[in-house]
Amino acid sequence: MDFKLTEEQELIRSNMREFALKYVEPIAVELDETARYPKEVIQKLSEGGWMGMPFPVEYGGQGTDYLTYAIAIEELSRSCAATGFTMSVHTSLALMPISIFGTEEQKKKYLTPLAKGEHLGAFALTEPGAGTDVGAATTTAVLDGDEYVLNGTKTFCSNGPVADTFVTFAWTDKSAGPKGMSSFIVSKDAPGLKIGSHIMKMGIRASQTSEIIFNNCRIPKANLLGSEGSGMKIAMNCFDHGRIGIAAQSIGIIQAALDESISYSKQRIQFSKPISKNQAVQWWIVDMATDLNACRFLTYNAGWLKDQGQPFTKEASMAKLFCSEAAMKHTVKAVQIHGGYGYVKGVKVERLMRDAKITEIYEGSSEAQRMVIAGNILR
Ligand SMILES: Cc1cc2nc3c(=O)[nH]c(=O)nc-3n(C[C@H](O)[C@H](O)[C@H](O)COP(=O)(O)OP(=O)(O)OC[C@H]3O[C@@H](n4cnc5c(N)ncnc54)[C@H](O)[C@@H]3O)c2cc1C
Repeated sequence: MDFKLTEEQELIRSNMREFALKYVEPIAVELDETARYPKEVIQKLSEGGWMGMPFPVEYGGQGTDYLTYAIAIEELSRSCAATGFTMSVHTSLALMPISIFGTEEQKKKYLTPLAKGEHLGAFALTEPGAGTDVGAATTTAVLDGDEYVLNGTKTFCSNGPVADTFVTFAWTDKSAGPKGMSSFIVSKDAPGLKIGSHIMKMGIRASQTSEIIFNNCRIPKANLLGSEGSGMKIAMNCFDHGRIGIAAQSIGIIQAALDESISYSKQRIQFSKPISKNQAVQWWIVDMATDLNACRFLTYNAGWLKDQGQPFTKEASMAKLFCSEAAMKHTVKAVQIHGGYGYVKGVKVERLMRDAKITEIYEGSSEAQRMVIAGNILR
């Protein structure tokens, strides 16, 4: 068993760290305060080839493995979890399904500009009445000649207000149960597509979130992704990939919390000595560092399985569950280590704590991960 990352993976890690320190870290507080989309950063990520990492070169990607992509998300999220998530949704939830299930024509037309970073992708599955219970969705798609006509409202669509291409889901045959849902590629300029209200959030504030409304939205029949009825399978496949991305995002958050906690605890003097000299503070930091190691092993193992072409659903859920809960637990401790100063706007751990919370909710809540894992180990 070899636990060592390859030279290329280490190089990508240090390149992304350098990128994040130069372009993201200096504006992270401002992005959080203003909830502004970091267009210039995404542009720079595109120019550097980061927006299409794990896709074939022939479709505009960089041909890296998935583990390498996860390491890049980790390092980007260490500076700004919102920017890390923008890249992760684009890659794991929008490009990946087109890469895996798309036709040659769809890959040329949609995957290539997305992988080059000329376009931004989004994933629209959740509806007001259908979150964890995906099957409660009501959006429909009816074939009318050479077009599908979509009707329904999606919510919590990340990248929604700024995306060029959406991967979405609708019933083509509700009576067929889970096998009646289909997946579609929708361009932002499709007639009948409207970006609904923007959703302001507790954390990852620079990630743009909105409703997406399909009102007799007409798309070419050729934009069906996979076959009619394969939508649920495609959605679950997206989540397998996406959960590795969220686990990596959580690792970036924990690493940042650890960095801040070590540095602050060594320089904050109380009772004539640094607070790091107190065993209570040391143990919080030790637990943080230990869980961080465990998070990396779980996540890199899931990414490695994916890259070996082996099943990785259970491992991706385990990584997402463990890392997101660790991120929440340890960012709360990081604030505690900072005392009152950790509660102040503009101090990094305050943002990290708010950003960490969402990792336990999206791409399947912790409860949903436990359902997936139970389904795998108790069958
Ligand atoms: C910031 C943000 C970004 C998002 N981005 C996207 C996106 O890009 N695309 C997209 O499609 N969706 C997105 N989502 C939606 C997200 O995936 C859902 O919020 C999530 O799946 C939970 O659904 P819900 O919010 O409707 O909660 P609900 O499903 O209503 O769940 C509420 C609570 O009940 C629990 N619960 C529900 N059912 C069960 C059960 N059977 N057993 C035990 N507990 C249960 C849940 O775990 C949760 O704690 C995003 C959400 C947020 C907040």
